[in-house]
Amino acid sequence: MKAVILLSGGLDSTLAAEIMSREGLELLAVNFKTPFCLCDRHSSNLGCGSNARRVADSLGIDLKIINATEDFLEVLQKPAHGYGANMNPCIDCRILFFKKSRELMQEAGASFIITGEVLGQRPMSQFRRQMSIIEKESGLEGLVVRPLSAKLLDPTIPERNEWISRERMCDISGRSRRPQMALARDLGINDYPCAAGGCLLTDPKFAGRIRDLIDHGELDMQNINLLKSGRYFRLSQNAKLIVGRNEDENKMLAMLAKDGDFIFEPQDINGPVAVGKGAFAPDLLHISCRIVARYCDRDGETYADISCRRLPDDDGMAIRSTHLDDEELAKLRTLTAAT
Ligand code: SF4
Repeated sequence: MKAVILLSGGLDSTLAAEIMSREGLELLAVNFKTPFCLCDRHSSNLGCGSNARRVADSLGIDLKIINATEDFLEVLQKPAHGYGANMNPCIDCRILFFKKSRELMQEAGASFIITGEVLGQRPMSQFRRQMSIIEKESGLEGLVVRPLSAKLLDPTIPERNEWISRERMCDISGRSRRPQMALARDLGINDYPCAAGGCLLTDPKFAGRIRDLIDHGELDMQNINLLKSGRYFRLSQNAKLIVGRNEDENKMLAMLAKDGDFIFEPQDINGPVAVGKGAFAPDLLHISCRIVARYCDRDGETYADISCRRLPDDDGMAIRSTHLDDEELAKLRTLTAAT
């Protein structure tokens, strides 16, 4: 009997994989990649899917990593079931991942899917009602086994048909991770990420920026990557400025800038790189230079010379700028919904 398991590589899906491989199933693991995934933040910098790879290798199961970015961005702009506390469209996200898992299940000749979900752990997608909507809309009714909570849920087709033993499933629920830690000890699993991965869309600040991109019809990968790399200022309907917060972000912003974008950099003093995207009339160029000056090491100087040029081959100019003080900056943020 073959089954597809959704494997993030966090503790819950690792436990689910271990329990189900003890049922004698042949498992095929799948891991979904989106631009908002934080799955490797706490444990390594090896990239998306690295925790899932480690778990799959340790259990000797095949792993398929699916980049779901394109479909995910569509879902993110208009989720049929709405957003969670921030910009996380969890129900539609799960429906998308489940649908893709069902396709994989059919291609691989598998009979059902498995997840590490725990009843009541996440408010938007792991309550009974939401779980049932997700199953129904993804065409997987009765075919999703959640071994960590199975005894608290209706028996699934694999349990009813005795492909797996309901008796050996667990009855964990709620937000505490203690039962999972105890189970990990029982199963001899000692090596797992100390915190769950998560998703940038649940971060209120980041969510505000994503909302801004959607509202302005600008949700694409370049803009998303820029949002991850600095302070964000919406200067007008058609112009935004992203300012680096450190050396790495400065390099990243310079790399992400495209033809038509503006690059702002301080001359002769240390300070951030900023990228301007959109229509920059002279007044916006000046405001942008003043924002950049705010984050420069001016060492008491009133003015900073900020160069600005338009890519790819504008000669540019330097604008002698006073810095925008914090009050003005705060006003700008309020007025323009910048975060
Ligand atoms: S937190 Fe993010 S990745 Fe997780 S279900 Fe919600 S939208 Fe999807």
